[in-house]
Amino acid sequence: MSISQDLFNTARELIPGGVNSPVRAGSVGMHPLFIARAQGAYMYSQEGDPYIDYVMSWGPMILGHNHPRVRKALEDALQNGTSFGAPCKPEIDLAQEIIDALPGVEMVRMVNSGTEATMSALRLARGYTGRSRVIKFTGCFHGHVDAFLASAGSGAVSIPGTPGVPDEVVAQTLLADYNNLEQVQELFTRYGSDIAAIFVEPAAGNMGLVPPQPGFLEGLRRLADEYGALLVFDEVITGFRLSYSGAQGYYNVIPDLTCLGKIIGGGLPVGAYGGKREIMNKIAPAGEVYQAGTLAGNPLAMTAGLTTLQALKEHDYNYLEEKTSELAQKLKEVLAEKGLPVQLNLLGSLFTLFFTPDPVTDLTSAKKSDQELFRKFYTGMREQGIYLAPLNYECAFNSFAHGPKEWEKTLESAKNLKF
Ligand SMILES: *Cc1c(COP(=O)(O)O)cnc(C)c1O
Repeated sequence: MSISQDLFNTARELIPGGVNSPVRAGSVGMHPLFIARAQGAYMYSQEGDPYIDYVMSWGPMILGHNHPRVRKALEDALQNGTSFGAPCKPEIDLAQEIIDALPGVEMVRMVNSGTEATMSALRLARGYTGRSRVIKFTGCFHGHVDAFLASAGSGAVSIPGTPGVPDEVVAQTLLADYNNLEQVQELFTRYGSDIAAIFVEPAAGNMGLVPPQPGFLEGLRRLADEYGALLVFDEVITGFRLSYSGAQGYYNVIPDLTCLGKIIGGGLPVGAYGGKREIMNKIAPAGEVYQAGTLAGNPLAMTAGLTTLQALKEHDYNYLEEKTSELAQKLKEVLAEKGLPVQLNLLGSLFTLFFTPDPVTDLTSAKKSDQELFRKFYTGMREQGIYLAPLNYECAFNSFAHGPKEWEKTLESAKNLKF
């Protein structure tokens, strides 16, 4: 038995399912790898085997693992202590960096995770508008916030997406299909004056990558304005990923509120939500909408995030986008030449391969991907040292630490696959 298998068996006795976040356990009948260390584009398993990583901690590590500049900044910050529970300068520096970068953000509040960011932004949107309903899109993920763990019931009524969420908590959550403006229009026609906000991943990354179709984000902006609702972009993945100015800069559609996480923590636990000054000033203690956090604005986390953003400013997003496109197109060709039905969804440094002949534009079309083919793809790649998400409904994350050597090895590995 491998060391990882052995550790996973122990973990399952101690931790539910053996993991601290479900997706890590995978859906492919292969035990997860235990990772001992990570450097650049590589992760090293407990066995000492190197893997070219396309998960990159699910997005944060866009500079590569253990980036020397981030590590050095953290080592320096560590000399000064690990938590103050009082204001510190790195909080302002990171806030300034985020505000300078994102056109929709004039003020920002730091929290500890993406989940906290969306949860707090939802409360703020409701507090600011005095309305209670919220529109979300099926297949978009906004962390494990009760109100967002909703599934489609009959009519426009949502039902809880998991045990433990009462019906009443999702009763205010309205669901629409991604890329479907007509459904959003219908919801506004029916519930308009009671809708506080539209929450959306401006490019969806949690049903596999599903980019917005032309006009979709603009349409949401228009409807939100027309009905006096807030447009909230969940940029936890796309922030500082699609471009330095996020999806909002990339598509030039400016939301009222923005949720952030992942990259802005540089590998430490950070989330943030920000937006128009007038709205953000409703948050306590400036305003009356309550939200707090013992470790929020933690000096180490702020330092890792700030250093990551400063380093990113010196990197060329166009280059990474081009290289990701080359890699992903070639991967698609290799698989198509094997006679497989393949759809490539590609955007910036993100991509997902779906095993279906039909275009993937929402959750329903994503679900058509052949999971047996995905299983063979995942297992075959992992056996050759390529680390992909063990679930088809995730993105592959390229990074500035990957280079021609890694991309070529990835393609060679794909060529060797047998289906
Ligand atoms: C990862 C993610 C979240 C949740 O962030 P956590 O830090 O895991 O709580 C929220 N929204 C999106 C779009 C995400 O990808």
